Amino acid sequence: MAKKMTSLDELYVDPLKDLYSAENQLINALPKMVKAASASDLRDAFEGHLRQTKHQAERIERIFADRRNGSPKGKKCVAMEGLIEEGKEVMQEDMEEDVMDAALIAAAQKVEHYEIAGYGTARTWAQQLGYDRAAELLQETLEDESAANEKLTHIA
Ligand code: FE
Ligand code: ZN
Ligand code: FE
Ligand code: FE
Repeated sequence: MAKKMTSLDELYVDPLKDLYSAENQLINALPKMVKAASASDLRDAFEGHLRQTKHQAERIERIFADRRNGSPKGKKCVAMEGLIEEGKEVMQEDMEEDVMDAALIAAAQKVEHYEIAGYGTARTWAQQLGYDRAAELLQETLEDESAANEKLTHIA
């Protein structure tokens, strides 16, 4: 066990590292989802979100660079590992194209909801700690994730 945490400032980096791991896992997973999808609007949505996801990982790197304190690496988001694993299970099933697309959307929306929860917390903590630039960057990503989720709802 690490030493007892005594401030929100110490806890604050935790969701950031978690999300950094989550984003990097998604950078690996999204190309497989593009390949598994059939509808062109769904493939475009996954491809577009892959590009956004790379920017999202960079935003977290920028937050750590601004803090001049530590690296975002070193934590594994086991929740995202599980969500991606469920997505892989879906892709291994034998399904008609439209059915597969619906299942892929369901898996992807769980991912977006998880990210929305994580970024909402991280953004609010950054605000409360007075890290205005970090709060802005996290808000930008939160808006990306919400928009991605809404787009998936629309496609579904
Ligand atoms: Fe993301
Ligand atoms: Zn996570
Ligand atoms: Fe996690
Ligand atoms: Fe996302």
